[in-house]
Amino acid sequence: MTVDDLPPLRKSLSAAGLAAKKHFGQHFLLDLNICRKIARLAGPLAGETVIEVGPGPGGLTQALLEAGARVIAVEKDARFLPILDDLAKLAPGRLTVIEGDALEVNELAILSVHAPGRPAHVVANLPYNVGTPLLVKWLTGPFRPPTMTLMFQKEVAGRITAPVGGRDYGRLAVLAQALCESRIMLDLPARAFTPPPKVHSAVVELIARPERPSEAMIGALQSVARHGFGQRRKMLRSALRELGGASLCLAAGIDPDARAQSVPVAGFLALAEALLARDASGASRRGQSSSD
Ligand code: SAM
Repeated sequence: MTVDDLPPLRKSLSAAGLAAKKHFGQHFLLDLNICRKIARLAGPLAGETVIEVGPGPGGLTQALLEAGARVIAVEKDARFLPILDDLAKLAPGRLTVIEGDALEVNELAILSVHAPGRPAHVVANLPYNVGTPLLVKWLTGPFRPPTMTLMFQKEVAGRITAPVGGRDYGRLAVLAQALCESRIMLDLPARAFTPPPKVHSAVVELIARPERPSEAMIGALQSVARHGFGQRRKMLRSALRELGGASLCLAAGIDPDARAQSVPVAGFLALAEALLARDASGASRRGQSSSD
């Protein structure tokens, strides 16, 4: 079987009677040229392992297979499994489809069975309703993809890549940019999708930074960013009150009168480090006094 034996995506969808379901965030890319462009943006994929979330009718999946990737696709909507089975025949042994919820699956367990010992990139046209929690899972959890090439609503893409001081700069920008280099690679108008969503979309590339902070540091970073931006109009001395306020800022070399919006990612990392150091010295003081 070859690509040419496959019916066009639109035809397979209508033959299978598959109308898009809104609650699954289904906006399909049925133009294979766009799918191939996204696969190219993900870099050279020959021999690489890729996790794709939400293959749906399989346009992007096909492009990833054509690029030579080994694809493990996680799809929540079982209606697509027969179409994806046909696609699997095109590239024997290179497509595994797992029916499941990408928010729940354990990627490391899946990889240990289907692609042991190999790092896996993530490439996906994400369901918009769960795009941000999925990104946070991959940024902070035990599965650490070296690269992610992800389609989001344009507004979310803007929040991931926002520069310090900008309107969109917030928790997501701090977390994503502390852990990855991130940039917008491609803008797509709503009409590129079937059915078209209400908003435009963008593909974001996230490349993991080589020096990954410890789990404790990531937890502390999330905590200072959550408090700092939770009350973004307030100065950090008040917004971070629960975590130590002005003294925490001073320990981190940050002006306590600054607002979160003007603190660069490096400043948030310094605040997280100061929080960890303070907690560690508190713990060691407690340890000492209990042994006295
Ligand atoms: N990749 C296809 C394309 O580009 O045409 C479909 C993309 S569509 C935006 C999102 C896909 O994610 C749908 O196929 C949907 O069923 C699936 N999906 C939605 N929520 C999911 C979840 N929690 N876990 C796995 N797949 C999910």
